[in-house]
Amino acid sequence: MNRMKWSRYNMQWESDQDTIVTYNSLNHKILQGLKEDYRSIKSVEQLCLDGFLVKDQLDEVKLLKESLEFRNQDTNSLSCWVFVSNDCNLTCPYCWEQGGLLKKETNMSMENARKTVDWLIHRIVKSAAKELSLTFMGGEPLLNMEVIKQIAQQLNQKIPKVSYDIITNGVLLTPKVIEECMEINLHSYQITLDGTRNLHDSRRCFADGEGTFDVILKNIESLVTMDENVSLVIRMNIDMQNYKNIPILLRLLHRMEFHRFAALCINDTILKDSGQNSFILKEVIHILRLAKELGFQIAYGELNHCWMMSEAWFMINQDGLIYKCPSLVGEKEYAVGSIRDAEFNKEYQRQISLKPWDTCLSCELAGLCSGGCPNRDKIQEAQGQPKKVCRKQYLMELLKLKYEPEG
Ligand code: SF4
Ligand code: SF4
Repeated sequence: MNRMKWSRYNMQWESDQDTIVTYNSLNHKILQGLKEDYRSIKSVEQLCLDGFLVKDQLDEVKLLKESLEFRNQDTNSLSCWVFVSNDCNLTCPYCWEQGGLLKKETNMSMENARKTVDWLIHRIVKSAAKELSLTFMGGEPLLNMEVIKQIAQQLNQKIPKVSYDIITNGVLLTPKVIEECMEINLHSYQITLDGTRNLHDSRRCFADGEGTFDVILKNIESLVTMDENVSLVIRMNIDMQNYKNIPILLRLLHRMEFHRFAALCINDTILKDSGQNSFILKEVIHILRLAKELGFQIAYGELNHCWMMSEAWFMINQDGLIYKCPSLVGEKEYAVGSIRDAEFNKEYQRQISLKPWDTCLSCELAGLCSGGCPNRDKIQEAQGQPKKVCRKQYLMELLKLKYEPEG
């Protein structure tokens, strides 16, 4: 009979209710129950099927490498962010786009929109993908509604299974625009609120300093009233300036019954590792816990793997250059191709061949985190700090929160 062993990619913790929770990062399975009594929860066969128990002689490190490479080569479902505008109607002080003021280019042209559609269709055929998920992005994407409509109308005619979402500041989301979005089958929105009115308005404002809080809330009200299929994520960018205010915002949104129709995505905006960063990450966990207690759904974006090495992920900038990482869009030396070319360049091969997990093979979370963010590592290295940025403690806290039994 084969001897079995506990998988090295199991991670275990005690939940509040004296239950032991085990998460397997290779199979993303979860097991909850008394530690000594797994057989009463699941049969040995099921524990093997779910990957908690593995054959004694199994080389799990090899299995991990194969499974991460397989995941990155899987092109069954393609995802693409299209930056339809690098312009913005706001001048948020912390924004990477600086209200578009630092950019020479602005909106995607109609010609680039047509070429984007052609390139996507070529990619779908070449990779035998079954579906496409497309995110309209900016700058502020609603500044280029004509291109959004052009791309979606073309794709709706040519691709059987395509879905859309948009990351917008929400300011231009008038009833007329909502109707136009519904017509092209766009129902998923991510809209940012960075605090209660005064704080939000100090960070997310027009060039003349006027705030946007009230107009965004009014537009959200129209959105959820008009579109019965709407899916809404409220994003909150958290840093040292607003972390104390976010719980107040959460309670306000709860009183306004947002938890009935909106999920939350709470992000730290600090890319480099520092004392501030670990402080903020602890605050993110406290805030997510409060959000969960208030009944909000949580979008656990940080539990997703890096897209750079995946052959199913692309970002197309308004000028037609293609990238693999949202934080590199616009840095032309990192472009991996163009919508004018059928093939990728050498930079594509370099990026998809990265293996940040190579230094993490013994980590229980390697199947989930797959070695973290190569871009963060690069920034940290450039600052002369240790190359690897490891967020294990944070990921662990997110997992605990995600799989915590409901109160
Ligand atoms: S390199 Fe970092 S920022 Fe870029 S896609 Fe990967 S995880 Fe995201
Ligand atoms: S970066 Fe940290 S958490 Fe991620 S796989 Fe490596 S050691 Fe584990």
